[in-house]
Amino acid sequence: MRKDAQTMKQVAERCTRYSADESCGCGCGSASNSTKSDCVTCQTCKHYNRENVCDLDLYEEIMKNHNL
Ligand code: SF4
Repeated sequence: MRKDAQTMKQVAERCTRYSADESCGCGCGSASNSTKSDCVTCQTCKHYNRENVCDLDLYEEIMKNHNL
């Protein structure tokens, strides 16, 4: 399974459950931040856990569904 920065970004952009983790420090948790999409990636998602795995098991599914 590919898990590079670009793939994680593409997956997160297509993910309906993406939820910005405010602790990522880039301000993407704030709705007024116009650069929000710049940091949409699984790495900044609340569902991405310490083991670098999606809590909801969506990563692989999205990759498959979108041929990423
Ligand atoms: S970590 Fe999971 S829920 Fe979050 S954007 Fe990635 S695939 Fe979606």
